[in-house]
Amino acid sequence: MTAAILDGKALAEELRAEIARQVAAFKAETGATPCLAAVLVGENPAGQVYVRNKRKGCEQAGIDSQLHRLPAAASNAELLELIERLNRDPAVHGILVQLPLPDAVDESRVLDAVDPLKDVDAFHPQNVGRLMQGRPRFLPCTPHGIQQLLLRNQIPIAGSHVVVIGRSDIVGKPMAAMLMQRGTGGDATVTVCHSRTRDLPAVTRRADILIVAIGRAKFVTAEMVKPGAVVIDVGINRTDAGLVGDVDFEAVRAVAGQITPVPGGVGPLTIAMLLHNTLAAARMQAG
Ligand code: NAD
Repeated sequence: MTAAILDGKALAEELRAEIARQVAAFKAETGATPCLAAVLVGENPAGQVYVRNKRKGCEQAGIDSQLHRLPAAASNAELLELIERLNRDPAVHGILVQLPLPDAVDESRVLDAVDPLKDVDAFHPQNVGRLMQGRPRFLPCTPHGIQQLLLRNQIPIAGSHVVVIGRSDIVGKPMAAMLMQRGTGGDATVTVCHSRTRDLPAVTRRADILIVAIGRAKFVTAEMVKPGAVVIDVGINRTDAGLVGDVDFEAVRAVAGQITPVPGGVGPLTIAMLLHNTLAAARMQAG
């Protein structure tokens, strides 16, 4: 079997066109333009690329964007002051703090300071709690993109066994929470695996849908995948051979039923869902 490719890039383009139409309607209706403020601390090259792509995505969708740069040596107080200013600014609807932050910065304190109504990454404890309770305000961007990819490719989620490898606050944990909720896009039986999981291949081989978010190049091999399974590769690893995922794509493709490539899989969907959340934030703030 050769797995079909789940084309995240094409779906992201479709979603972005939908969002651009909704942004135009929102502007016509309210006279306001949704605006995303990105905060970038230090010189992390990957962070700079992500922020540039996010701003480009905003521009194409008709969303305003601002970039606020602070030096790597910025203090917690300076960062908190900037967040407070953006919280108070009625022209700013969404605030994005690009991670990772320099070691000296208290990341939780900074993320907790973002107004929950402007928290387009859905990192604030209030938004995480709402997600767990099944009444989300914002869905976290990467898991939301993956859920859309599954839904729009008619991949059955309800009743399926989903195995998520990785338990980060950004991908693994919210992904598991979303797929186990009652209702559309949920109702799955979810297993979460991590670095302490015993006999990982035995667990992953039971997955109808395997979602991998660990940050280790080509970690998932063909032996870890049930024939015909859907494999979603979240990993972005920069190697000498270029950008690769957490899944050994060529080997797993021979076993899986459907698979996302890297690049061109989950990455473009993350940005599309960020634009979706910025518009949602602008709508909420417009009343
Ligand atoms: P992280 O780096 O915060 O944590 C890694 C997780 O993997 C941990 O929960 C750990 O328990 C687990 N893990 C590590 N080694 C393991 C092992 N040997 N066996 C089982 N589990 C193991 O995770 P993250 O922030 O979710 O990032 C994961 C990857 O996804 C990275 O490559 C990151 O760049 C990528 N990512 C991509 C997108 C996107 O838009 N495509 C978004 C976020 C993250």
